[in-house]
Amino acid sequence: MKLLNFTEGKGARRGVNEDIIQLVSCPTNGSVCTQNLCEINRLLSTAQQSRFTKEYGRSIYKMKEALAVADDIKVERCANCAALFRKTILSSMDNVKEELEEMSKGYFKTRYRESYKQVSVMVAELKQSRSLA
Ligand SMILES: [Zn+2]
Repeated sequence: MKLLNFTEGKGARRGVNEDIIQLVSCPTNGSVCTQNLCEINRLLSTAQQSRFTKEYGRSIYKMKEALAVADDIKVERCANCAALFRKTILSSMDNVKEELEEMSKGYFKTRYRESYKQVSVMVAELKQSRSLA
């Protein structure tokens, strides 16, 4: 069952107000999860902007907040919506992790090595606690 359509930012800069996750169909027609999704998209948008300006710590922090909003969807009928929101947020975190890994091998390696280690551990823990590892 396809619930959501993910719009991938393929290197292109996205507008602040552009939704990152779009609700295509939902058992409650979004009446339960739309609020959460709006908040998630707002946070992901900020995270995206921070990533472009290489403020990775802030970017990850905003995504962590978004994850908490997804976790807040407790209604059974929107369990699939919540799972997909989480999956998208975690894959965005993976992208930041990969970017940091690259940076930690480059010219500014000493600056990014510690961040990369911290983010790796954090993302692994977040996945594990949600049985997504
Ligand atoms: Zn829903």
